[in-house]
Amino acid sequence: MYIAGIDVGATNLKFGIFDEAGEMVHMRVVRSIQGNPEDTAAQIDGLIREAPVRAEMIGVGVPGTVFMPSGLVYSGNLKWPGVKFAEMLSQITSLPVWLDNDAQAALAAETLPGGACFGVENAVYLTLGTGVGGALLIGGKPWRGHDNSGAELGHFITHAGGLKCGCGMYGCFEMYASAGALYRMSGGVRARSVIDRARAGDEKMKRALHTYAREVANGVCSLYMIFRPQAIVLGGGVSAAGDILKKEILSTVRPAYNFSRDDIAAVLRFAVMGNNAGMAGAAALARMNMSRIL
Ligand SMILES: [Zn+2]
Repeated sequence: MYIAGIDVGATNLKFGIFDEAGEMVHMRVVRSIQGNPEDTAAQIDGLIREAPVRAEMIGVGVPGTVFMPSGLVYSGNLKWPGVKFAEMLSQITSLPVWLDNDAQAALAAETLPGGACFGVENAVYLTLGTGVGGALLIGGKPWRGHDNSGAELGHFITHAGGLKCGCGMYGCFEMYASAGALYRMSGGVRARSVIDRARAGDEKMKRALHTYAREVANGVCSLYMIFRPQAIVLGGGVSAAGDILKKEILSTVRPAYNFSRDDIAAVLRFAVMGNNAGMAGAAALARMNMSRIL
């Protein structure tokens, strides 16, 4: 059986078809249609019809809060203010649809063979991008909460009374650990340039990256305290800083009563599934969840 795995981003829509073994047999990348879920559903239907093999189920990852099984999505990035997208897509394609948050899909991809948490039962996934997203794997299963909406790991408070966050609270982790936070800390340099310049020895950018790493470390240590995971995986644009970011994070870790810096070093990993993670993970989630329902 073939499964379509789709990663709907704010800019691009990535479409892949995966076989039983999870190997991608077909891929297309097209521009996303902003603010119009009906057109996005029609776009996906077209991609399924044009594909050389026929998908029998669909997994979709979107940047937003997703309630399953109703498939209701709230996405600021896609400008979908409460859209029943799973139903919409299922109607137009006549196929079963599993819809999920994109961080949940990225985490699912990292649990596949070759991924950063393959074989791991308990893991925390953080996307350090425009915002901070996250997902949890607990006892080998994605954790979703009572209403299936998952874990918003960008919105626990690391600075009480701090900067106002888009979610309405003040001092959220996202305000200090996103790519936007690094932009602010560097005095207006884009995250990728901060990393490149810090690597090349630019003192100002090294200081900005150090300040940023301390913020990420605060979140990582708090999450380690709460979940005691085997892996904390960093994904998203900023995670491209890999080696230098890990070094900086570990240098700011203050050991606590029940963990050392070595403990954090042992669990801290970077996402390895790259650009295809969203598609592969969405297909894996569809396979995992639909086989239970069908
Ligand atoms: Zn927030």
